[in-house]
Amino acid sequence: MTVLEQGKITIHSENIFPIIKKSLYTNHEIFLRELISNAVDAISKLKMASLSGELNGDIGEPEINIHLDQGKKQISVSDNGIGMTAEEIKKYINQVAFSSAEDFIKKYQNQENQLIGHFGLGFYSCFMVAEKVEIDTLSYKEGSQAVHWSCDGSPEFQLEESDRKTRGTTITVTLLDEEKEYAEQQRIRQLVKTYCDFMPVPIKLDGETINRQRAIWKESPQDLTDEDYLEFYRYLYPYQEEPLLWVHLNTDYPFLLSGILYFPKLKPDVDVSRGHIKLFCNQVFVSDNCEEIIPEFLLPLRGVIDSPDIPLNVSRSALTANRTVRQIANYIAKKIGDRLKSLYEDNPKKYIQSWEDLGTFVKYGALRDEKFKKQVEDLIIFRTTADLGDNTPQVEVQSESGDAWQDATPTTNATDDNGYYYTTLKDYLERNKEKHENRVFYCTDPSTQSTYVDLYKKQGMEVLFMDSFIDNNYFIPFLEQEYSNLQFTRVDAELDDTLVDNDQSGEIVDPQTNKTRNEVVKELFESAIDNSKVNVKPQAIKGDDPNNAPPAMVLLPEAMRRMQ
Ligand code: ADP
Ligand code: MG
Repeated sequence: MTVLEQGKITIHSENIFPIIKKSLYTNHEIFLRELISNAVDAISKLKMASLSGELNGDIGEPEINIHLDQGKKQISVSDNGIGMTAEEIKKYINQVAFSSAEDFIKKYQNQENQLIGHFGLGFYSCFMVAEKVEIDTLSYKEGSQAVHWSCDGSPEFQLEESDRKTRGTTITVTLLDEEKEYAEQQRIRQLVKTYCDFMPVPIKLDGETINRQRAIWKESPQDLTDEDYLEFYRYLYPYQEEPLLWVHLNTDYPFLLSGILYFPKLKPDVDVSRGHIKLFCNQVFVSDNCEEIIPEFLLPLRGVIDSPDIPLNVSRSALTANRTVRQIANYIAKKIGDRLKSLYEDNPKKYIQSWEDLGTFVKYGALRDEKFKKQVEDLIIFRTTADLGDNTPQVEVQSESGDAWQDATPTTNATDDNGYYYTTLKDYLERNKEKHENRVFYCTDPSTQSTYVDLYKKQGMEVLFMDSFIDNNYFIPFLEQEYSNLQFTRVDAELDDTLVDNDQSGEIVDPQTNKTRNEVVKELFESAIDNSKVNVKPQAIKGDDPNNAPPAMVLLPEAMRRMQ
């Protein structure tokens, strides 16, 4: 076939400009985020130029000033960054979707790239709220002429000389009537707090610095104390109980990601139906729902994730299908697993004391995620009737100083606040392999421990407590399915399933003998001591039929709500 013509598609700015203005972002307020990001970038660029020795004189104290004029319906954002020449305005402003970031990174390629922008679209977001936009700017380059650019929202602009004397840029937005809220102090303060709190330059509103600046997730863990992490948590989530533990994430391959995730205590008033993790991109706040990025079972975690590699302008469904996002999700789950393992190994006491809260995450994660299950399998512990303090041998090691001896307590030797020991299923089976064979005795009701459970203890059997909501509804059926070679036997099942409240008096009795529960238990107990009288052999209560009731079905939030 003959090629008739080859060429480039052209775009009519008259037609496309309104679309850019109205549809680039649905959320108008982000225009401020974009202007401030550009100001921060302008300051970073100045630093880059200065580091390379290109700049004569001092760069001064970097700062961004916001000025509001309600009468004129104006908001202006000024920086003392790199500024622009007329040429640069023509190149980077007049051409939509043209960013200077690439040129810069190329020019200073031996320096770390900290620039926020790179699409060349952010600036135009201010037309969502603007009747008119003006740029007044003076470049850092020797002998530059200051310039003034203005545009009233039509694709026509004006560029003229300015008498500006100070290096940097001021963007002045004259607001549309329906957008005049952006000239209000409170509104702007709140927006800066939301989006720009952790940007590394002081942002001043009427001379007062209103952003926090320090983003500890960008710092090295070695330079941070526990108090730094706790203080940051309190800042993000005021009036909340201290977190149980945290994980500092930091990787640059195969994606860039940093952040700090905290395990909170699960309190009844914690809303677990949605995520609480804040998503950032180069210290700029993006959103506080990370549902697509972190695995569902980790949603109750808190803290921040910062990654320039998470695509931000795509739909949610595209996000979940995105390869990088999937890799990030796996990375986070893996790091959480690693952290749990190190806590279990290094500080079993704390692990056990936190287990009530941690266990829910861990078990739910194991149900939901095969890879995570493999990672935490040996970290899932159960409160046990065994007295592990007595029969676990004490290991003695020399302390670091070399002069004193101390106990290196085996993991299972630690107890919770009530003095109970905990064990993994693996250790349990190993310890009891002769007596139990393949049976696992468990109790679902913590309050019955003194009766049913003692009965088993007297018989020399070890009973595990599986008494949480998640145990009862999901985890036990899951274990039964996972370990089909084991026989899970519920010790508190037999009795309460046969006793009934005959006369609705509130007391359950044996319908055949009319004996009360206490009497029946006492009898069983006595006979258990003398094994010859009655053979107490409980029946296992099986969970849902694994064929038609897969175990992992309610969302964690629902599970937790019901747990409260
Ligand atoms: P991006 O930030 O992704 O590069 P923008 O549309 O936000 O795209 O900005 C386009 C370009 O305009 C920037 O790359 C930069 O060169 C220039 N620019 C915008 N704001 C400023 C500013 N405050 N100071 C200096 N240059 C700026
Ligand atoms: Mg930008």
